[in-house]
Amino acid sequence: MALRKILKQGDSALEKVCRPVEKFDRKLHWLLDDLRETLEEADGVGLAAPQVGILRRAVIVVDDQEQMIELVNPVIIRQEGEQDGWEGCLSVPGMYGKVRRPSSVTVRAQDRNGNFFEVSGEDMVARCFCHELEHLDGHLFVEHTDKLYTVEELEAMEEDN
Ligand code: ZN
Repeated sequence: MALRKILKQGDSALEKVCRPVEKFDRKLHWLLDDLRETLEEADGVGLAAPQVGILRRAVIVVDDQEQMIELVNPVIIRQEGEQDGWEGCLSVPGMYGKVRRPSSVTVRAQDRNGNFFEVSGEDMVARCFCHELEHLDGHLFVEHTDKLYTVEELEAMEEDN
């Protein structure tokens, strides 16, 4: 396994539509292992392959049990409700924005061996599914918010309340 460099906003790889994964081979397993290690090192809750420059439809999402879920060729098949909450991205370091997302999401995906499965998430996990899947179509969360805040600005706002 190896740490990979996380690309930042402005890199063209983050604006591309990723291709489906077709081969569930050792190369995919290396990619998923590297995504896991890179995500853990960055202390994030999700990471998509294009964020490390690989334009394939694969992401990792950390669920509410702190487990990493590998999603290959993921598709949202159900979404319900809505939630407004703060969102950030490892490719937009240090900046946060308020983004509206569904409160409950079900994803159909393949695992690293090509087996199909469905997984549902609420709240933060639902938000993470939406955020990571958008990366596969070249979108960033900043498109959903008018204003970005630094951590210091967020903390100042919380003190005011
Ligand atoms: Zn992101």
